[in-house]
Amino acid sequence: MGSTGRYQVCCIGAGYVGGPTMAVVAKMCPKIDVTVVDISQRRIDAWNSQQDSELPIYEPGLKEAVLNTRGKNLFFSTDVDGAIERANMIFVAVNTPTKKDGLGAGRAADLTYWELAARRIAKIAKSPKIVVEKSTVPIRTAEAISTVLNASGTTKFQILSNPEFLAEGTAMRDLENPDRILIGGNLKDEDGIQAIGELVDIYSHWVPKEKIITTNVWSSELSKLVANFFLAQRVSSINAVSALCESSGADVDEVSMAVGMDSRIGSKFLKASVGFGGSCFQKDILNLVYLSESMGLKEIAEYFHWVVRMNDLQKDRFVSRIIHGLFNTVTGKRIAILGFSFKKDTGDTRESAAISVCQRLVDERANLAIYDPKVQEAQIWQDITAASRMDRLELERLVHISSNPYEASQGSHALVVCTEWDEFRDLNFEKILGIMEKPAFIFDGRNVLNHEHLRKLGFVVYAIGKPLDP
Ligand code: NAD
Repeated sequence: MGSTGRYQVCCIGAGYVGGPTMAVVAKMCPKIDVTVVDISQRRIDAWNSQQDSELPIYEPGLKEAVLNTRGKNLFFSTDVDGAIERANMIFVAVNTPTKKDGLGAGRAADLTYWELAARRIAKIAKSPKIVVEKSTVPIRTAEAISTVLNASGTTKFQILSNPEFLAEGTAMRDLENPDRILIGGNLKDEDGIQAIGELVDIYSHWVPKEKIITTNVWSSELSKLVANFFLAQRVSSINAVSALCESSGADVDEVSMAVGMDSRIGSKFLKASVGFGGSCFQKDILNLVYLSESMGLKEIAEYFHWVVRMNDLQKDRFVSRIIHGLFNTVTGKRIAILGFSFKKDTGDTRESAAISVCQRLVDERANLAIYDPKVQEAQIWQDITAASRMDRLELERLVHISSNPYEASQGSHALVVCTEWDEFRDLNFEKILGIMEKPAFIFDGRNVLNHEHLRKLGFVVYAIGKPLDP
């Protein structure tokens, strides 16, 4: 207990995981004090902002949860040391990006931020702490962290693995009603079992007991990487099928429906698209590839790696289709890009397929008009500049950020849907057709529009995994 007599939880890292996860802990456990800390003053200021539109992350339902608990039992601060000192339990949800280089195809997770956080905890903590791995980490990270934490031998630490399975865009729903909570700990040791019990107690405020599972630490760490591999693998598999459909006259949505109705297979994550994005899938799979390579499991590494290669291939295929459709040249042609985030209902652009699509079209000297309902203009510029070989001045001649889809469409030769935002289904396509160059093309990278209706209006429509002329 802290000096207030209340159980104190601290979370290091106020990002896409730390922020929403702790907002839900605070909402569900009013008797627990939750402090989320970060080294980024800008991020903490945004979490504390009185303008609710300025929260650093957009997630449906997040704003309400934060506004109802902030200042009561949910606090955001840059005082990392103070929060560590008070805490009974410390979640670590810092970023674990992919290292840039590696010997083979695999890429290790960069644990620099994690180690810095662990060293800070070791230095500051004067009373026993439970340290919870919330970030996605390679197997046996807990062991390494335990060595760092327990090096001085003066304070006792218990390390638990508690990977987060939330999906951006549905984070609050996933957190409030999770499929399972996975807790890995030392099941052979009294203190380990007690630490697991304390974390189970927190989740039991809102998660049914049968959904809380405990394993050894390594199974828990590995399960997170494997879960992301399986999800991404399904996307890559259906995307591979989409190529076959385009060449054969089959319709990938029909195939997906027929296959997904088999209860052994299931229908989720069988939607063909321009490719998966997000900060986790590619990173975690490359990490699995790296782990396999470092264990001498060459063929296993290759098997994992194909999921990422297939994803790159799908993005390339999509861009080639755009160029081919526009009479083999996009130079000087205006193309409207609808959606820039990696999926709907999030402003997150990390590894977004839109970035690769835009980068390749810009390389071909197309003029882009980009519209996304939630991604900030500065973020789009940052991503485009980082992905392109051109400098900012050159890019500014080619890229324009639009404030709405109609402005983006004005004078465009093609509309390219990169994100499945709901609002794109309800656009006034008669009006759009009227303001576009003719023939007016639509390349639906998410298969979300009503293609039959659009063709009747007069658009030439290309959809993923569907015959050109059905
Ligand atoms: P993020 O980049 O949004 O947030 C991480 C935060 O940690 C940043 O604000 C950064 O400033 C802060 N930070 C870094 N080092 C720090 C330190 N030493 N002290 C205090 N703060 C520090 O990252 P994220 O998307 O929240 O991901 C965090 C982890 O969770 C990653 O390992 C990721 O793989 C995993 N994960 C992410 C998702 C997702 O959908 N984003 C889902 C499940 C798991």
